[in-house]
Amino acid sequence: MTKMALAIHGGCGVMAKLDLSQAEWEAARVDLGRALKAGWDVLTAGGSAVDAVQASVVVMEDSPHFNAGYGAALNTDGQHELDAAIMDGRTLAAGGVTLVRRIRNPIKAARKIMEESDAILLGGDAADAFARSAGLEMVEPDHFTTERRVRALASMKAHVAAGTAAKASEAEKHGTVGAVALDQEGHLAAATSTGGYNNKPVGRIGDTPIIGAGTYARDGVCAVSGTGKGEYFMRYAVGHEVASRVKYLGETVEQAASQVILADLKPYGVGAGLVAVGADGSVAAPYNTDGMFRGWVTPEGKFFVATHGEVFEPSEQHAMDL
Ligand code: ASP
Repeated sequence: MTKMALAIHGGCGVMAKLDLSQAEWEAARVDLGRALKAGWDVLTAGGSAVDAVQASVVVMEDSPHFNAGYGAALNTDGQHELDAAIMDGRTLAAGGVTLVRRIRNPIKAARKIMEESDAILLGGDAADAFARSAGLEMVEPDHFTTERRVRALASMKAHVAAGTAAKASEAEKHGTVGAVALDQEGHLAAATSTGGYNNKPVGRIGDTPIIGAGTYARDGVCAVSGTGKGEYFMRYAVGHEVASRVKYLGETVEQAASQVILADLKPYGVGAGLVAVGADGSVAAPYNTDGMFRGWVTPEGKFFVATHGEVFEPSEQHAMDL
């Protein structure tokens, strides 16, 4: 039996510590813990890495604290256009959706596409129609809208009008959710889901559904899920780049992931982060912003969640609630 591993992120668009109340930070950490628990339960029951990453991402899509599914960012027209992808490192099979507006859990549609479609990536109305005919739960687009995102859009538009968009905080700009896992059989998988970034152009597609950019998994190498300014993740094919460094340079997952996020992308001054898990179960979670919602489980089954530098073990009460 291989060592299992699981790591998740809820985006590197984390606000400054003082911008949220203690209760709000706590609530976000509780949901990170719930997402970890959903994935870890799959792994400990002998389930696949693909099932585990999907289970973790579904919890974060349904949480208002992260920019994916319910609580997703709005584009410049005040609409949601959601992206998601999943990849099975065992077969290199992958599926993704882009610009979808009515699928409650876009990651479930990505999974269906991976398993039931010839295509890897479906977009827009056709992707919504595919999900509907696959029997997935559909919602009205305003299901995804939260007060916080409406305020964030207004604030970003004000920045644009004042010519200060570049100064807007990372939290106002973006976020994403993702998970990577290694299962008992040694297979790797990655899943990522996002609303993109706040005030993004209509029709803009990010890195999340692009296999090799925001989402990548390959058995024997690593699984990667990214968050940050997607255009740079696409230019650098970040997921594949991290995997290539591991595979061809023999770097550890930590070395490879840090090199790409902290060094290669540095000159661009854009927010970026990722979670990665190696074939040996090692986990990396570098980010270059003030913080990144993240969590991981040690091989002994200990849970850790964090938003900024400080790392928390979900409290006993919360562990019981999970
Ligand atoms: N990577 C996402 C995108 O560009 C957004 C983010 O993670 O901040 O769509």
